[in-house]
Amino acid sequence: MKIRAAGTLAIFAGFALIGSATAQDLGPQVRKLADGIYVHVGNNFQSNSGIILTQDGVVVIDTGQNPIESRKIMDAVKKLTSMPVHLVIDTEPHPDHTTGHFVFSPPAVVIGAAGAGESMRLRERQTPDRIQRLAATSPEMRAALEGYKFIPPHVEYQQKMTLNVGERTFELIYLKGVHSESDTAVWMPKERVLFSASGIVVNQINILRSFVTTPDILAASKMMKALNPEHVVPGHGTPGTIKIFEDTEKYYALLHERVGALVKEGKSLDQIKKEVRMPEYAHWGAQERFPSNVDAAYKAVTGN
Ligand SMILES: [Zn+2]
Repeated sequence: MKIRAAGTLAIFAGFALIGSATAQDLGPQVRKLADGIYVHVGNNFQSNSGIILTQDGVVVIDTGQNPIESRKIMDAVKKLTSMPVHLVIDTEPHPDHTTGHFVFSPPAVVIGAAGAGESMRLRERQTPDRIQRLAATSPEMRAALEGYKFIPPHVEYQQKMTLNVGERTFELIYLKGVHSESDTAVWMPKERVLFSASGIVVNQINILRSFVTTPDILAASKMMKALNPEHVVPGHGTPGTIKIFEDTEKYYALLHERVGALVKEGKSLDQIKKEVRMPEYAHWGAQERFPSNVDAAYKAVTGN
């Protein structure tokens, strides 16, 4: 009898630790990908966040579109476990992934690719009223910003970093020239889950800044596809599979082909921008970003 009682106690202790939240309790934005691996999916292309439970605490990947979302993510964590968030991994330094760090840190240590802190500091200097303006957007936002503190990464890695947390392994892979100054893919090799960052998004035209190149995006896509992930969680858009990479490859192949054809006709970049059409992708979001895609494709096709 005593042994059985002890066994029952142990089981209950286990449940208390892991948490008994069902999918419904966690709200409509949280999806379970595998045991202990969750995604808080942003509404309308807002940024996605990973919540990964380990025996030794929680790892959060990106802290949400804004502090309202960050607090929702923290609420989900608390429903899942009584353990603290030890680590925050940034897939990029932009505000829609990092403004909510203060909700988790301290105590969480924030990790990003080299240059992430510099990118965040530059934005703070360039837009010193950013938080004030964000607070003014709604009373709810103002409340969510209570206790705001600017928190750039505590740790920056170069090229690659492996983190072993509890029973899990996280491989951080720097992605060059795909979206921001410092993008990180997070690969969980045992679970075959990949957080693929924002260089490749779903059903949406991406913004390609001047330092972003289409060959870099395609190289990152190829590298990530070769990992053979079961689940792919992009920085924005619905989580899926390697089809996300295949769709991106098709899109850029067609864009290169169309821009290349106009280059061959002797058209200038300005003319190409006016003439090139991609009706196959008219249903994708953020069409206003298309000219930046033409710029990048022109550079790739002409080599300058
Ligand atoms: Zn971004």
